[in-house]
Amino acid sequence: MNYSYNWRLENSYAHLPEHFFTRINPTPVSKPRLILFNADLAKFLGIDLPIDDKDTLAQLFSGNKLPDDAKPIAQAYAGHQFGHFSILGDGRAHLIGEQVTPDDRRFDIQLKGSGPTPYSRGGDGRAALAPMLREYLISEAMHALNIASTRSLAVVSTGESVMRASVLDGAILTRVASSHLRVGTFEYAKATQGLEELKQLADYAIARHYPELNDHENPYLGLLNAVIEKQAKLVAAWMHVGFIHGVMNTDNMTISGETIDYGPCAFMDIFSMGAVFSSIDSRGRYKYGSQAHAAQWNLSRLADSLLPLLDKDADKAVKLAEVAIGGYSITFNEAWIKGMRCKLGLFGEEADDVSLIQGLLDWMQNSKADYTSTFRHLTQENTPENEIYNSMEFKKWHTLWKRRLTRNSKPLKASFCLMRESNPVIIPNNYYVEEVLVQAENANLKPFLSLLKALKNPFEETLSNQAYRNPAIRPDPNYQTFCGT
Ligand code: AMP
Ligand code: MG
Repeated sequence: MNYSYNWRLENSYAHLPEHFFTRINPTPVSKPRLILFNADLAKFLGIDLPIDDKDTLAQLFSGNKLPDDAKPIAQAYAGHQFGHFSILGDGRAHLIGEQVTPDDRRFDIQLKGSGPTPYSRGGDGRAALAPMLREYLISEAMHALNIASTRSLAVVSTGESVMRASVLDGAILTRVASSHLRVGTFEYAKATQGLEELKQLADYAIARHYPELNDHENPYLGLLNAVIEKQAKLVAAWMHVGFIHGVMNTDNMTISGETIDYGPCAFMDIFSMGAVFSSIDSRGRYKYGSQAHAAQWNLSRLADSLLPLLDKDADKAVKLAEVAIGGYSITFNEAWIKGMRCKLGLFGEEADDVSLIQGLLDWMQNSKADYTSTFRHLTQENTPENEIYNSMEFKKWHTLWKRRLTRNSKPLKASFCLMRESNPVIIPNNYYVEEVLVQAENANLKPFLSLLKALKNPFEETLSNQAYRNPAIRPDPNYQTFCGT
């Protein structure tokens, strides 16, 4: 049978020097079964797949059968994991090719959980069903929240077991990304390759993501600044929706500015700057309130890696890198304040806006308020009846905020409109995410599909998301997420 289906697969990454990857096929699985398929995304990518032929899709998205032009590789990279440098690489993923869309955009098509590679370092190369469903759900939710993210095209169960703390069903996720170039790819080049290879990688990243930099007087400094800007804005966007990535290692930070690797991530329920859910992050290195700093630390690793390209004179190169990294905080703060003004319906800029925003966050932290619903409640002209809104501290803040709204350059109606566009009704709430995953593991996918549908339209109160706005749901204070599963 022919598995081409209008794929337009290219393999530009594999034109880099061979140390950047290994050619290797996915390991076939015994009984692939299609669990999820993202028909809208397939259409966007321009792949004309037989959506009713589940067996064919299962063969394709398990890696058992490959599209005609697929040339699978595992990518090499390194990374600082919780501050410690390691040589890594795709230990359980295969890049089968880059799909060129009808409008000539290029996306990596990667199978995750598709078998061991030379970079597996003792791992089994496989993934379990629930974590792959979780990545599908949360990455698609992020996309719907207008936050740059890798996407999910399919989940296939393998019919094989994977050994974790218990025996679990195996699965493969098809991930779609602008690219899988990471900060860690540059660290790998710097640590193991020569200047020429580093330059080739940087030129490739520029051509793929920032082609406008070709005219820049120092394209490599331009690349560093461009990634700094993208990541500063990305992390600000995470902060606005209460997203905690959970494992912001440099191998999990993209050059494109997309969120990647949904392992131990979670959305904050009760507001706390110290919120951390990841079981392996006992010291809170990647807690909610540390994400901006963690990103800057990672970007400094990118700057380190690019130093030899920034200037022939090492001292000058360091100076250029320092100025670039210094720019991160400015861009992050601007993006953060801009987004918070939108969340509170503030037009124009007043000097006291930051303390007004901080005042609300302090109150939320002290009162253990739910992050998403507090902002959504503020979008209603009258704050709902709820004990916590009766406190003096909240009333004082509310009066200040209302006064600030009267000084807006636009009418009150415009503020509420802006707030409704900026504050989601629904995010992947931990309680519901866990509930639907448990059901899915027990062969009942219906609740998962219902939550997935609700998350497609996060800024509107719809019938599909009504069930997930239940104020009676109280978060589990011991909730933990896990990675690498
Ligand atoms: P992550 O924590 O998912 O970002 O993964 C960190 C590194 O561990 C990457 O190099 C992965 O490819 C590798 N890895 C994670 N899980 C496995 C596994 N089950 N088998 C082989 N390699 C893995
Ligand atoms: Mg990773």
